Amino acid sequence: MTTTENLSKKAQNFISSPRKMLINGQWVGSASGKNFDTLNPATGKVIVSVAEGDKEDIDRAVRAARAAFDDGPWSSLNPTARERCLHKLADLMEENADILSELEALDNGKNVAIARAVDIQLAIDFIRYMAGWPTKIKGGMLPLSVPYAPEAKFLGYTLKEPVGVVGQIIPWNFPALMCAWKLGPALAAGCTVVLKPAEETPLTALYLGELICQAGFPDGVVNIIPGYGHTAGAALTTHEQVDKIAFTGSTEVGKIIVKAAADTMKNVSMELGGKSPAIILPDADLEIAIPGAASAIFFNQGQVCCAGSRLFVPDSLYDQVVEGLADVASGMKIGPGLNPENMVNPLVSQIQFDRVMGYIESGRAEGADIVAGGERSGDEGYFVQPTILGNTNRDMTVVREEIFGPVVCVQRYNNIDEIANLANDTVYGLGASIWTRDVGNVINIVPKIRAGSVWVNCHNILDVAMPFGGYKQSGFGKDMGEESLASYLETKSVCIMA
Ligand code: NAP
Ligand code: MG
Repeated sequence: MTTTENLSKKAQNFISSPRKMLINGQWVGSASGKNFDTLNPATGKVIVSVAEGDKEDIDRAVRAARAAFDDGPWSSLNPTARERCLHKLADLMEENADILSELEALDNGKNVAIARAVDIQLAIDFIRYMAGWPTKIKGGMLPLSVPYAPEAKFLGYTLKEPVGVVGQIIPWNFPALMCAWKLGPALAAGCTVVLKPAEETPLTALYLGELICQAGFPDGVVNIIPGYGHTAGAALTTHEQVDKIAFTGSTEVGKIIVKAAADTMKNVSMELGGKSPAIILPDADLEIAIPGAASAIFFNQGQVCCAGSRLFVPDSLYDQVVEGLADVASGMKIGPGLNPENMVNPLVSQIQFDRVMGYIESGRAEGADIVAGGERSGDEGYFVQPTILGNTNRDMTVVREEIFGPVVCVQRYNNIDEIANLANDTVYGLGASIWTRDVGNVINIVPKIRAGSVWVNCHNILDVAMPFGGYKQSGFGKDMGEESLASYLETKSVCIMA
């Protein structure tokens, strides 16, 4: 199945006419009248055109979000009512899970069955997890002893309040899941939102917009503006009525956004890139570690911020591990994601394809062994073979920079005491995995790893309750878990004198 004729009726309907943007509860065209096309990465052909948001649209959306926040239909709604809206949204996502998965596979290129089981299911679960929070947000009583007013009696306490209007800017690798990670805690906290999906993958965000309208959120609470980063995205990051920017994307763009948001001193959270190590220790169970290391990098074509892109293997196991990995890589079926049997799907865009092929060439030129893959697959769409670069070292560009494709760099090591230093030898600090049967190794090494997530005998495992986010240049602030909620709340101290 490669073409859109095989999609469900509902999905076909959704892409049968140009899609609009959501401002103040209404679906509207762009102020400029401009549209842009979203493409099918399996073919490079146009799926549908989408309204192209720019500064004026962002301004209208921010004003709607501001009014919805300041005039209170959302922030002052009681917590159980907010909870019900979020549960209703999760119910609607569940009812529409198949169509969301189809649109995700079509727009991003990924495997439709994996989109259903991972992306969409995690998104639903997370909205439900967040639906439980509005009724549990609470401040605390403070025991005060004001030294310069010893005679007076005070009552001190804190209130937790929503940050306000939030601009959310997300990438294309997990489009619907990123919407859920951003919208869930913002809405649970009582914030209102203007969300800009990635230009490559606007469709599931817009479909979620339809569900949000049906779920009973008041107008203006969620506004969705598709468009480009340097226009719509930039306008959001500098708008003076936006209180917070929540960004997921590359470290490069994250730096631009932090600077842009500084002028109006916005609260910012940054979920950025990675170059995460997967570390096979000498005692590892290779039956688990080899397929585990393969899925750590090849899942979602390596377009995963925490992908295990630097694989460390002890010298003594090197040949066995690399051969095992090459077997996995060469056995993976390559093809469009709408056929669930295809486990290697296209990269998201021509730009991404060129980037990844450029990195493979750079690895070759800098002396890495091409153990498996290394080539384009087919002559249509953006398919790259799962690629293993052997005998790489810390000085190679492919080891230092985020490739964001199905390319793993294997490095040998000898001394287990050195492994944490090798693993930390990167500007990033998003994830890491350790493969071992010895709990002593776990206890010793985990605290030395400078990364926001450390997995043991697994990789890329995400759960709604587990905070996810980076150290170092992988950013600050957490998605998921209770901590994600905290980043959308302000603390107000109240002091009453008797
Ligand atoms: P990107 O190029 O940084 O873009 C991310 C988003 O920012 C897009 O919506 C983009 O718009 C927008 N943008 C670009 N320039 C902007 C500007 N000047 N002002 C405001 N917004 C701007 O990243 P990507 O290529 O989409 O995604 C891949 C990156 O995301 C990787 O580095 C990956 O590691 C990272 N990522 C991190 C996490 C995490 O949780 N840490 C999760 C997923 C992905 P356009 O639509 O025009 O590009
Ligand atoms: Mg697309």
